[in-house]
Parts: sequence; C-alpha cells; structure tokens
Amino acid sequence: MIFFTLQKTYFKPFLLGIVICFATLAKAQEKYPQDAFRSPMDIPLILAGTFGELRSNHFHSGIDIKTQQREGLPIYAIGDGSVTRIKISHWGYGKALYVAHPNGYTSVYGHLQKFSPEIEAYIKKVQYEKKSYQVEVFPDLGEVKVEKGKVIAYGGNTGGSSGPHLHFEIRSSITEKPTNPLLYGLDVRDATNPILEKIFVYPLSKGAIVNQSDEKSEINFSLQTDGSFLADKVYATGSIGIGFKGFDRQDLAANRNGVYSVHLTANGKTYTDYDFETFSFGETRYINTLVDYEHYGTYRERLHQCFKAAGNKLNIYNTLYNEGRIAIEEGMTYSVVLTLKDIAGNETKAIIPVEGKREALKKQAAIEKTDDYLVAKRNNNYNLGGAKVYFPANTFYEDFYIDLEKGTDTVRIHNSKVPAHRNFTITFDVTKYSKEDRKKLFIARLNRKGAPSHVSTFKRGNTFTTRTRYLGTYTLAKDTIPPTIRAKNFKENEWLDNYSYLSIEIADDLSGVKTYNAKLNGAWILMEYEPKKNTLTYNFDDKILNKKECDLEVVVTDNVGNKTTFKSTFNRK
Ligand SMILES: [Zn+2]
Repeated sequence: MIFFTLQKTYFKPFLLGIVICFATLAKAQEKYPQDAFRSPMDIPLILAGTFGELRSNHFHSGIDIKTQQREGLPIYAIGDGSVTRIKISHWGYGKALYVAHPNGYTSVYGHLQKFSPEIEAYIKKVQYEKKSYQVEVFPDLGEVKVEKGKVIAYGGNTGGSSGPHLHFEIRSSITEKPTNPLLYGLDVRDATNPILEKIFVYPLSKGAIVNQSDEKSEINFSLQTDGSFLADKVYATGSIGIGFKGFDRQDLAANRNGVYSVHLTANGKTYTDYDFETFSFGETRYINTLVDYEHYGTYRERLHQCFKAAGNKLNIYNTLYNEGRIAIEEGMTYSVVLTLKDIAGNETKAIIPVEGKREALKKQAAIEKTDDYLVAKRNNNYNLGGAKVYFPANTFYEDFYIDLEKGTDTVRIHNSKVPAHRNFTITFDVTKYSKEDRKKLFIARLNRKGAPSHVSTFKRGNTFTTRTRYLGTYTLAKDTIPPTIRAKNFKENEWLDNYSYLSIEIADDLSGVKTYNAKLNGAWILMEYEPKKNTLTYNFDDKILNKKECDLEVVVTDNVGNKTTFKSTFNRK
C-alpha cells in the first residue's frame, strides 16, 4: 500500500525530491520486518495520532487508531509472543498490554476496555490479591502466551484518552526505544500532503534582524502552479532560523496528525533534517526545546523550530549543519526550502527567498527585565514571603529574568511560557495555622482560569512542600468537604438479577479523590475507577454471591483525608 501511494507522487514535478524521499524511506523500512506482523485490528486503519506527534512534554510514542467511536472492538496480537507486562492505571494508557515477539520487538496496546478472558482472569487474580484496581505485573516469558491473530483485548477509552481508540506501539525489546509502527508494512491510506499553516523566521544571533525586527516574524506564503508554496521575500542580517506550524492528515479522517520528516536547505545545502523513525523515552521531554515554548505558552500552538535551541539534546537529527542556523550576509540572496513529508512519501514544500540586507530596526523588542536574573546552571533559591522556591541547577534550558510575586498564602513563580526540564521545590511555611487547619490544607496550583487543583503535598513540621515542573501560581487551599458517593444504576433494596454490573458515581469538589474501597458482604471487591467519568464499576462476574441479600459498602477519601461511607442493600438470586 505504501508503494501504491508512492507511485502516485511520481506524477509530481519534483522528481529529484521524490527519488531522495523514496530512498530515505526505503532505507528506514529496510531496518524493520515488513511481513512479520499483522494489523492489531480488523477495521481500516484510520489514525487520530501519528508517531512523533508533538504532545505535552512528550513525542507521541505510537499511533492512535480510531475505533469507529465504539468500545469493545477486538484487538489482535500482531504476532506470536508472550505477555511481558500488564499495567492498569487511572491515567496514561489506562488498561495496557505489552507483548514481546521472538523477532526482538514488543507491541504495546493501550486504553483497552478489557483483556481476553485468559488475560482478564490472570490480572483479576492479581487485583484481588493486591486489593487494588491499579496494578502492574511483569509475567515471566512464556507464562502468558499469545498467538498471532488471536484476540488479546477489546478496544476502549481507559486512562488519559479523550475518545475510544487504540494506542498502538512497536518498541525494540532490548532498548525499549519506540519505533514508528507505520514502518512495518501496516496499511494506512494516505495520499494527502502534509499541511503547512504558518512560517516564522527567527533572528538568532546577537544583532540579527529579520524584516526590521529583532523578534521572530511570521511570513506570508502562497501556492504556486507546481504545487509548492512561495513565501514573501525576507530581508535579514545575521544568523536566522526557520520555524513552522504544520500537521499531517491521512485520507479518511480530518485529524491533525504529526508530520514524519522535516528537511531544511539553504541554497541547496541541508541545514536540518529530522524524522520520526524512532526516539528514546529518555529524550522525549526535550520536545520543549524543539517547539517554540514561549509561543506555545502564549498561543497554545506548537511550532517546530528547525534549528537547535538552547538545551536541546534530541537525537532525532539525520543532519544538523551549524545547528540549523543560516548565516545571512549582506548583498547575498538565499533560497531557503522547507520540506515536510509524511511516511507515505507525500510532501509539501515551501520556498522562502531571503535577501541579506541591513535594515534599521522598526521597533526593538522589549526584554522583560526583573530583579532576578536566573542562571540556569546554578542552584537558585528565592524567598517569596510565605513560601520558598528552590530550583536545582539545570532545571531550565537557558538563563532568563524570572518574574516572582511574593505573598503569604499565594505566590507566583513566573509564568507558563518557560519550560522546566526537571522538578523544583516549593515550600510553604504553615506555622500560623493550627494543627486542625493544617490537616485540611494542601498546596494547589491555580490553572489559567484561576481554579485551584491539588498537587502532591508533603507535610513535615511547620512546612508543606511540593515538587513540580510547572511554573505558575501556587496557593494554600483548604478542603473541608468530604467526597460524594451516589448509586448510578440501582436503588436501595432492588432486585438486581439481570444486572451485569454496578455503577457508582464518586466525586470530590476540591482536593480530589485519593482512595476508594468497596466491600460486598464484608469482602473486598474490585471497583474499576474512571476519573474522567467519575465512576466506579463492579462487574458481577467477579464474585459468586452466596447470599440473596447483599450489603454493599463504599468508602472514599479525598486528598486531605475527608471520608465518606456509602451503604446500600440489594437482592440477587
Ligand atoms: Zn496514543
């Protein structure tokens, strides 16, 4: 199928580009087995996400396969293998399965609704032993075997998923590096070119000017008859870099997915070339140096920067000349070409003419200076009145003027336009609060709308401490209201013979649900918690009830220890 879509592109005029693209892709594919694996699903593969797509603090490590807005579609083992990991979590991949294959690759299936009956029985035993819905187990090789093409699970929407889909990965079993699943011969229809939305030119060196500005400039561009884009001429001096906003779209859905590769040349010389064949989990957070984070913090849109910004330790580059920075000399002209490709070989090209010309600055960018200039490679401590903040060395990628607002119970630590690579510590002094008050207090971060959300709060002596990677406003908040618990699909004293499950709604208004436990006739039962739906679900298949009259007890606590107990009685033959 990939070959079919490539043939289509031969009709385009960029013959040389296509030959190069074909060669690069063929080279990438050569490394991966083409016939070893089948598709994890029997439906046409329509993607809601591609490999390497720009997400919050990480590159997407798999593909997201749309499941027709439904849960419960069968998921198949892509090859013979052995289950090496089963993880069930409220967040992340929800219910997830990892299968190691003899050829050295591990397939990963996430957001599952449930597993096949054998795997379901295996994991339920663990859950009942540990009395916990959230579990993670690593079965020995050969303990839980699967066969190519046999159902291993059913598609769902568990964990950090905002609609039914399968998150699917193929990793190297040895290095655990995720690889692009579309390099293994999976059939995804794609004859649609990547879409380029915005182009920016950045002045990078000291004194560099782009279009009379020392800040990045957005450049207009328009479609040419040959299918490429031509940008307005840029006048610049000094070192410049290119940034863009773009995405890729496959044929059968409108989803805005990530591009596969980015290529930048100036007068024929390659400055930047990177693709999403593979990356490592250890480097994924450096995504915050690939995207223009200040732009993201301001406009919530992620731009690719085609140059290496401060602190960037990514290994995704095939070529990086002069860190992707193009030195523009007065009197010279440059043809800068930006090419985006998808994995099927469709490409979008933009030509950006640049003329080296020294022009006067129209307006100098105002540097927001504050009293505190933070040097990134040092440890930094600040006293904010009611709280102290400590940034270990190299929390940040570069030095900057940090903006701090002191306060008693509320302090502001800069803003969300600067990324932190590692955790820093905020410590509140709670001396003035009574023991009783302290029990109900916690540290909260205020979101963009000013609403507080609980962050892990370590209480010791007269201090509350949290560790976080997010700059912003933090406050002490008080939660005195216990969680709520409500039966959703049954009533007191009802006969529930035809029910296959019990559904209960739990919620907490401020600090959030911390623990939940349920007992049926005195014995612990498994309740599956879905935080995004506020529901606990008990499956009647789990336990044979030996009594007609059943007593249910559900206890929920919030993050400061407020507790609610719910009791109900129902009947079942
Ligand atoms: Zn995903």
